[in-house]
Amino acid sequence: MAREIYAYECTECGTLHYPFKMRCRNCGELEPFKFKTVPLPKRGKLLTFTKVYNLPAAYEVATLGIAIVELENGVRVTGQLEVDDPTIGMDLLGDVGVVREEPYNRYWGFIFRAA
Ligand SMILES: [Zn+2]
Repeated sequence: MAREIYAYECTECGTLHYPFKMRCRNCGELEPFKFKTVPLPKRGKLLTFTKVYNLPAAYEVATLGIAIVELENGVRVTGQLEVDDPTIGMDLLGDVGVVREEPYNRYWGFIFRAA
């Protein structure tokens, strides 16, 4: 089953929010039930990235790429980057996977690879 990460769409004006905001940043809508969830697209462009070399013990890898990606619908998300030699503006394809694991918790997020 393909996993999804959801954005919150204001049903008054259609503005997408990710992560969830208590108030629509376009029309000011405050009612929480006026937002509906819509799956985020998986394709996007690399806006910027960094590589982390000194990770906490919970991560079982030596280094970790972190990216900010602008998805096809304009929403910007943070995710792991699994590209050896990334370049700004390159096309990426995201997958939803486990990004961190603790004894009783698994954290899911975007993992981006070259498209
Ligand atoms: Zn709105």
